[in-house]
Amino acid sequence: MVVGAGHAGLATSHALSERSLDHVVLERGEVANSWRTERWESLRLLTPNWLSGLPGYAYRGAEPDGFMTMGEVIEHIAGYAAAIAAPVRTHTTVASVTGTDGGYRVTTNQGEIACRTLVIASGAANVAQVPSLSQAVPQSIECVTAFQYRGAQQLPAGGVLVVGASATGVQLAEEIQRSGRQVILCVGEHVRLPRTYRGKDVLWWMENAGVWSERYDAIDDLERARRLPSPQLIGSPGRITLNLRTLHLAGVEILGRLATVRDGQALFSGGLANQLALADLKLGRLLDTFDEWAQKTPPGADFASPERFESISVPVPRLSLDLRSGEVRSIVWATGFRPDHAWLKLPVFDRKGRLRHEGGVVTGAPGVYAMGLPVLRRRKSTFITGAAEDAHDVVAHLAEYLGSSGKISA
Ligand SMILES: Cc1cc2nc3c(=O)[nH]c(=O)nc-3n(C[C@H](O)[C@H](O)[C@H](O)COP(=O)(O)OP(=O)(O)OC[C@H]3O[C@@H](n4cnc5c(N)ncnc54)[C@H](O)[C@@H]3O)c2cc1C
Repeated sequence: MVVGAGHAGLATSHALSERSLDHVVLERGEVANSWRTERWESLRLLTPNWLSGLPGYAYRGAEPDGFMTMGEVIEHIAGYAAAIAAPVRTHTTVASVTGTDGGYRVTTNQGEIACRTLVIASGAANVAQVPSLSQAVPQSIECVTAFQYRGAQQLPAGGVLVVGASATGVQLAEEIQRSGRQVILCVGEHVRLPRTYRGKDVLWWMENAGVWSERYDAIDDLERARRLPSPQLIGSPGRITLNLRTLHLAGVEILGRLATVRDGQALFSGGLANQLALADLKLGRLLDTFDEWAQKTPPGADFASPERFESISVPVPRLSLDLRSGEVRSIVWATGFRPDHAWLKLPVFDRKGRLRHEGGVVTGAPGVYAMGLPVLRRRKSTFITGAAEDAHDVVAHLAEYLGSSGKISA
């Protein structure tokens, strides 16, 4: 049983079919439901088309260096489901999974199904994470999460506070500022990346220099790697670099991390300069890694010269903002997403309610696996390009489990 027909569930289905393992993919909506229902209108992938292939289904269009719109992503994933004839049951919501003797009982809105093994591919970003300090925001301020945001026109006229500066936060800040609203962006820890480096897309370097393929069991601080914010990147026809400097030049006010809201005042951390310096330092180290790798590649490889980017500096930020003054009329919470595994009635969660797993092999429930979670098996696990290798590994373990438990030989 595979739960979820996003790209991760479909890549799993492909790997199961390759081993002739009977399975079904349960999906509460349509194939690619998250892209159909949970993304804003102008969003494009930040990964180039050549890096958005799925197992046995490389990008074949005319623009390998382009970035898919939401319509194109849906077409791509739905096309994949059709091409591999994935056995998807749409409009089938999994309400609960409980253990039985030697397997699991899956209760859905269409009835019950028994299975021996289960792959959770229900997504890493099912729920918007909003900090509890949001409860102290005055009622006069309209709040939306990145899930609810569809376009700047849905926000009231007037200033907008965007909280969070990962890929989502910087993209929304840019779009909202362009709509004529004054944006204030709160910035905590973030990952700065140029769109291109030495003449190639920065993700070309991530992929080819092996950074994205680094395995979970080779990473020193895995816990931290799994919590890292997504990089400040945007996929646009002009291949622009979007960072705090370009946002500042576009008129966005850059402030430190939103620390608390008290008596109608939003109070910001004074550590912005440190966060900027840290992001620059990490970027420099990453570029060093790319350069070291480039030096070892065979002669004839065609790279432009190494580059180093200017540190980002912005005016000294203010530390408070009166949310009752009318300066800001709305807040966009771009503070991350988390999975929703509430339907999983198994002893598989840690103290913080997170799924416990070892490279996708769920701890405490034999035969249960996960796909598509951050750094599940590799740094690229949540990206479309990461699904092929992860699905191969996870299904290899699953097949072995089925074989060794005597029910089926794969
Ligand atoms: C804003 C945003 C931008 C992103 N941009 C990129 C990008 O540029 N490039 C890239 O490679 N990746 C990107 N990602 C990351 C990643 O590709 C997506 O999050 C992707 O949707 C994850 O695929 P998935 O198959 O793991 O999960 P999902 O696509 O979320 O699929 C999970 C499926 O499970 C279904 N489901 C959930 N619960 C149940 C249930 N109880 N019963 C039945 N079905 C259920 C859902 O309806 C959904 O269809 C982005 C993510 C976000 C949030």
